[in-house]
Amino acid sequence: MLGWSINLFKVFGIQLAVHASFLLLLAYYGYEGWVESGVPGLFWSVGLIALFFVCVILHELGHSLMARRYGVRTARILLLPIGGMAELEQIPRRPSAELLITIAGPAVNFTLVALLLPFAWQGIFSEEEVALYSAGGLVIQLCFANLIMGCFNLVPVFPMDGGRIFRALLAVWLPYLSATYWAVMVGKVLSVLLAAWALWRGNYLLGALFMFIFFAGAAEYRHTLRRQQEDDYWAEMARRAAAVAPVGDEPPLLIHGPN
Ligand code: ZN
Repeated sequence: MLGWSINLFKVFGIQLAVHASFLLLLAYYGYEGWVESGVPGLFWSVGLIALFFVCVILHELGHSLMARRYGVRTARILLLPIGGMAELEQIPRRPSAELLITIAGPAVNFTLVALLLPFAWQGIFSEEEVALYSAGGLVIQLCFANLIMGCFNLVPVFPMDGGRIFRALLAVWLPYLSATYWAVMVGKVLSVLLAAWALWRGNYLLGALFMFIFFAGAAEYRHTLRRQQEDDYWAEMARRAAAVAPVGDEPPLLIHGPN
């Protein structure tokens, strides 16, 4: 499903890509703006969504650049209609590293809120209504969008940021695999409840997002389990090899096939 993507350009050496379905989202909002206020509405709507996704990219860059500090590369940042994804080559198992990499994303949104708030302040608290299609309206919408993005991502639904923070905190006391198991379990229960709530409210995009999170959480648990089994297997092999190894400093054997 994630194969249908178009590469754009690189930021900080990281490939930026958009999923084909993202264009449908732009078309949908463009159409809505056009129905509401003609051509200016169309451009305004598409521009607003584009700016909104610039904030999503900045959020993902927060994760990616913090991950780089721990020597983890980001294969690409992919934009989907339901948000963005920084495809890190691996997640460090050290709780402190996972915690900082995860927090860096929402921290970018809260920083943007702090930067935009002085310009949005007057509009938010003024008696008069701020025109939707105006610079003031734009700043207010971006400010709220970042506040919602920052808070929403902190909901503990693994593998969303909040769920990863929860896993990292559990991993301080529990083995990594058990911490993942419990973070995924809590995330699955919450994502089913939140999906049902979103569908009941008629927000199908949000409902789809929570369904996606449900399966993404399950997939990441399977991945972690497989890695743990591989690690255990090689640790056991190393233990057996050490047990049968002859005592003394014999030179290592070089075994050749028939030649
Ligand atoms: Zn994030």
